Amino acid sequence: RTFAGDHTGDRTPRQTPGVLYSKAAPTPVPKPEILAWTNDLAADLEISSPSKEDILILAGNKITSEMFPYAACYAGHQFGHWAGQLGDGRAITLGELESKKGVFELQLKGAGPTAYSRRADGRAVLRSSVREYLISEAMHHLGIPTTRALSLVTTGEKILRDMFYNGNPQYEPGAIVTRVAPSFLRFGSFELLAAQRENEKLRQLADWTIARYYPHLTGENKVLSFFQEIVEKTALLMVEWQRVGFVHGVMNTDNMSVLGLTLDYGPFSFLDNYDHNFTPNTTDLPGRRYAFGNQASVAYWNLGKLANTLSLLFEEPEMLEEALASYEEIFWNGYYRMMGKKLGLDKVEKADKDLISEFEKTLSEIQPDMTLFYRLLAGVTAETKEDQIMSHFKEAFYNDLDDSEAMTFKNLILAYSRRLQNISISRENSVTIMNRNNPRIILRNYLLHQAIEELEKGKNDLFVQLQEALKNPYSSEGYESLVTKRPDWASQKPGCSMLSCSS
Ligand code: AMP
Ligand code: MG
Ligand code: MG
Repeated sequence: RTFAGDHTGDRTPRQTPGVLYSKAAPTPVPKPEILAWTNDLAADLEISSPSKEDILILAGNKITSEMFPYAACYAGHQFGHWAGQLGDGRAITLGELESKKGVFELQLKGAGPTAYSRRADGRAVLRSSVREYLISEAMHHLGIPTTRALSLVTTGEKILRDMFYNGNPQYEPGAIVTRVAPSFLRFGSFELLAAQRENEKLRQLADWTIARYYPHLTGENKVLSFFQEIVEKTALLMVEWQRVGFVHGVMNTDNMSVLGLTLDYGPFSFLDNYDHNFTPNTTDLPGRRYAFGNQASVAYWNLGKLANTLSLLFEEPEMLEEALASYEEIFWNGYYRMMGKKLGLDKVEKADKDLISEFEKTLSEIQPDMTLFYRLLAGVTAETKEDQIMSHFKEAFYNDLDDSEAMTFKNLILAYSRRLQNISISRENSVTIMNRNNPRIILRNYLLHQAIEELEKGKNDLFVQLQEALKNPYSSEGYESLVTKRPDWASQKPGCSMLSCSS
């Protein structure tokens, strides 16, 4: 919709009871320069490469009469605790854009304060913006539901962050990512209204969300079906994260999309070594609530919070409990289907489930590089001999295995090789399935870290290389320098493995 009046809005940090957004115009920046533009997304949105004028829009320096800039208000549970009102503290939605592919919200992240910025500045640093830009596109090309990133601009502004060096404050370059999604509505958007006992508005929000994003759901039970579909989408999203070793790092309910998208990229990471306990978020220690191996159960917990919220709209909330309970089966069915593909199996039967459990157990113990391991696994055949195994997988190991570990590992691969003897599809087909499900190129934190350090010095080679390589994560060749396990120097270095929430 268009808005001809004053865009600015009141950006004083405050409680805004009973509303889901507040007007908030972006704050102009001194020197906008475009660093990245996503051609295929732009084509989907039917917009051409940005002109000088357009770059002003992407930097928050210009708004047009077709825009209605606002910051969304939501609430949520953070690290398991009710956090009350939150909201877009550094994101401003400019409006919606309609194309043949649908209707999309365009949102600037890092464009200045809003009513929900609390004591923070509403800005984003280059470091976190590069991370969000690249991971959004990486996830998209991996085939995982995600919000997208249309552009990355630098602002020419220096931003003060909580990093002190020799007692002096550290400034970092600022940047803005334009995020794109059909909707950025979160579990927390619903929790907000429920907490305020705004039942009528909650019903309106549910009806509106359903009509708009779940239009196939109609009739009396549509809110129940809506929740059921969110349960399904969320369960399958967790399966997908597991498939590629993605760790979100901040699975608070305000970061959970009601469309089942991966949303709000902060201290995320892909696994290097296969460690269920790995959390990339320094704020998540020592509890490791958001560790890789916990994500499926945290998603379930979060869905429980959404169920509580929606229960205000039900006379018989038990129906929601049933829908919530279906999560487990949906997740496990999806998980075994996914693992079957990672292993290139024709089907997954009882004995295969045991084999899959062996994979989990052994990989968690040995902790090889997850990505390298699964690509190398495609080289195993029904004829693989015991004495070939260790050298075949050599480059995937972070440590030398002792005899007992080597034995465990070899037994796993031999069991897999035996399974391949009675596979009903050709191994060639099986390998094709594997290589479509096991990415070769992932956005490793240490590579991101290097790309960001280079960008801060004005060099964009690695950034551009990553941007290109991530478009074909399942390719079988090319970009060999990106297909290596995390080097030793990176395992302890801050920013290469773990990050803080504000990253
Ligand atoms: P996150 O953990 O990134 O999802 O952020 C939690 C909340 O803090 C959200 O409501 C953000 O909008 C807000 N926030 C994070 N960083 C900033 C910032 N630099 N300025 C204003 N708000 C922020
Ligand atoms: Mg968030
Ligand atoms: Mg965030």
